[in-house]
Amino acid sequence: MSEAARGKLVVMSGPSGVGKTTVLRRLLAECPLPLRASVSATTRPPRPGEVDGVDYHFLSEEEFHRRRQRGEFLECYEVYGSGWWYGTLKGEVASGLESGQWVVLGIDVHGAFSVVDQYPDAITIFLRPSSLEELERRLRGRGTEDEESIQRRLQQASNEMALADWYRHQVINDDLDRAVREICQILMHMGESRDV
Ligand code: 5GP
Repeated sequence: MSEAARGKLVVMSGPSGVGKTTVLRRLLAECPLPLRASVSATTRPPRPGEVDGVDYHFLSEEEFHRRRQRGEFLECYEVYGSGWWYGTLKGEVASGLESGQWVVLGIDVHGAFSVVDQYPDAITIFLRPSSLEELERRLRGRGTEDEESIQRRLQQASNEMALADWYRHQVINDDLDRAVREICQILMHMGESRDV
């Protein structure tokens, strides 16, 4: 396959609760590029409404580490020190890129560093909340985390936001429509430029 026909890799990070999932869903529906979301694997239990193979590949700890030892992950990380592992499966990425799709990864900053080491041309986007107070309000409003988990995620959020400058693009998710439009424009622009 020629280089031109290969897809691109898009890495999107941002603190838990910033709205990555919603932004990504809207982006896939509205942006006129052949985008495809990579489905990560995790050992975290599903939240109500989450579907195996759609939201995540929900794996037991044993299965996750078996696959890790077999070298099936592009990157994986115990996010938030919570004991729960998250990882990007190589298969999710390779098949999409080979078929000319733009594969979008919604992963944490450590995962992003590791992916860019392996794919230096990846397009990196950091999604920011308008403030930490707003992020806390969203996390509490979601009603899916206990207090300990909220505190851990807020602590992690300030650590992650300190690394936001490493990303090539930063988008503030204070207005969902605008954030989706802005990311789509960034991607369309990258699609036209030849140096990515
Ligand atoms: P949640 O438990 O809220 O679904 O996800 C927690 C965090 O895990 C997300 O903010 C996201 O950044 C991160 N995450 C999700 N999938 C992956 C992955 O495959 N690899 C890494 N490194 N982080 C991930």
